[in-house]
Amino acid sequence: VALVGEALRDTSTERASAVGVAVWGRVDATRGVVMRLGANADWDGYPLRSALAAALGVPVAVASATEAAALAEAAGANLAPGQRALYVSNGRTITSALVVDGAIEGVEGQLGHLRVRDDGPRCSCGLRGHLEPIASTQSIVRTMIGRASDSDESHAAMQRISGGRAEAMTAAQVVALAEQGDAIAASVVGEALDALAVALANAAALSAPQTIILGGRLVGAGDGFLSPLRERAVPLIAPFAQVPALRWGALEPFAALIGAARVAEMA
Ligand SMILES: [Zn+2]
Repeated sequence: VALVGEALRDTSTERASAVGVAVWGRVDATRGVVMRLGANADWDGYPLRSALAAALGVPVAVASATEAAALAEAAGANLAPGQRALYVSNGRTITSALVVDGAIEGVEGQLGHLRVRDDGPRCSCGLRGHLEPIASTQSIVRTMIGRASDSDESHAAMQRISGGRAEAMTAAQVVALAEQGDAIAASVVGEALDALAVALANAAALSAPQTIILGGRLVGAGDGFLSPLRERAVPLIAPFAQVPALRWGALEPFAALIGAARVAEMA
């Protein structure tokens, strides 16, 4: 913990008037406190903002990486005043943040723990039917590898698209396999799309965004993922609300880093 402060002090902060920190975990941005950082319980409740401010002598603001990325992506989306952008980060987990007029509204959303089915694989939280174990990039890859273990054809396709390293395959590559006609990949991606469409419809019902920005590692999946997602989401939203524009984030893999500068403006 002290290392973070020292590392930041060692970098040239003489000209920095404020420091923004994007944390890959859950934070209480108002108090500048880390709530949860991966499995490392040492960080729970750590007052990162006050510790860094004391070490650096400049104002510090702290946000989650999802919130920072949301600020950066929303700023690039040219939203009209008052428009609401829901940013969804899809990687190992699925989190969300709502941006209105350049600021985060409310707290980071645990979108991955939305219940989207009656049953399903076990979530990291222990419950079943949640979005994360069906539609996170990590889950898409894991499910693909698991289901393909009995199929020579799909196994060969995975080896081919991953350059012989199926265990390092990306979700975007699974989407590409689905587009190429691999039946197992198509079923895995189809289930992820169904679950994500339900989750976005539920999010739309709660927060009525005009724009939904998908970010995180999923961005590489391209139109082969976004078009069918839109097709699935529209009939779930249109009967009760204006259908939000659905787009990829434009700043990956640097969205959170770029967003940290915006977080600093709040210090
Ligand atoms: Zn869960």
